[in-house]
Amino acid sequence: MIKKLIKKEIARQKKVINLIPSENYVSKDVLAALGSPLTNKYAEGKSGQRYYFGNEIVDQLESEVKRLVYKVFKISAKRYGVNVQPYSGSIANLASYIGSVGLGGKILAMSLEHGGHLTHGHHVSMTGKLFKFRHYEVGRDGWIDYDEVARIAKKFKPQLIVCGATAYPRKLDFKKFRQIADSVNALLIADISHIAGLIAGGVHPSPFPYADIVTTTTQKTLRGPRGAIIISKLSTPQVNNLSDIIDKIVFPGLQGGPQMHTIAAMGVAFEEAMKPSFKKYARQVVANAKALATELERLGFKIITGGTDNHLMLVDVTPLGLTGKEAGERLERAGIIVNKNMIPYDIRKPWDPSGIRLGTPAVTTQGMKEGDMIKIARKIKHILLK
Ligand SMILES: *Cc1c(COP(=O)(O)O)cnc(C)c1O
Repeated sequence: MIKKLIKKEIARQKKVINLIPSENYVSKDVLAALGSPLTNKYAEGKSGQRYYFGNEIVDQLESEVKRLVYKVFKISAKRYGVNVQPYSGSIANLASYIGSVGLGGKILAMSLEHGGHLTHGHHVSMTGKLFKFRHYEVGRDGWIDYDEVARIAKKFKPQLIVCGATAYPRKLDFKKFRQIADSVNALLIADISHIAGLIAGGVHPSPFPYADIVTTTTQKTLRGPRGAIIISKLSTPQVNNLSDIIDKIVFPGLQGGPQMHTIAAMGVAFEEAMKPSFKKYARQVVANAKALATELERLGFKIITGGTDNHLMLVDVTPLGLTGKEAGERLERAGIIVNKNMIPYDIRKPWDPSGIRLGTPAVTTQGMKEGDMIKIARKIKHILLK
């Protein structure tokens, strides 16, 4: 039964036009690593300091994957520590918060309703219960208002500021976030889960050297397995031995044995991300998103901020007399997969919001170009204006 369902899902993935910005299609090599017998190995602890024996090979493997992280993001082991063990982006963020400010610490982040992630202190997430979060929003025009972020920071005096989003279509100014963090002596964490592949491919500014901690999932634009990494400064003026502290929170604080097959697959993805073809891929992801947003706007759709700088866009579908849920369902019936999404200052609720979110990482992996985006935009219009 399960084998049958896997076959069906493979067929579904091939058949649909996948515009979910957080999804992608990994290479055969990444899949092979994920399906390898590395899943059989227990390796609690770090390379060279394990609680189990028989780790000669996986020690080398984990060390090599970490070396690749330094190379992909062009950073030095003299300044940063790397942890490749977090099971997911959610755990990576939780470990980073606990490690940097401790339970109950004060954190400033973007609200979910305006593009932030659940794990950025939303009340239904444990992060919203375990720390004192305050949130900034985007301006009425949909762009981050850095002066407003600075004002809230001055008042709230957070110990940590989070930048990075799941539904923000514009470039992030990490330098400005650093200045704001410095103005209140806070640490800065950049959650680059969505844009890590764009950063690796050189089409989005890097959070280094501005952020003290960088977290990212590896399954989104980075096109690796489901998993996450944490990169943190070895020490900061606020926290001595920051990266060692975070390591101890990942294990044994929050997790047990690392998923060595996932870590191997991350390594394969990082090797792929350093090839010239990945730079080309990242450029095409952004070019495709621009083409899709431009054509949708030309066809009369309301695009939040009027376009995109990255791999995704937010479309307000209420002018069509539809809700995000209705639009998403209609598109799904026609084989186009998106997700419903809140738009800034939405008057509707998350379960049935005003917008849909579209992205180009998956279709670009399949080889689609700008011309295909124009066709998809017209198809979307045809489906939604019926
Ligand atoms: C996807 C995402 C996460 C969470 O990742 P999971 O692996 O789904 O837990 C965290 N932060 C941001 C900004 C994300 O986009």
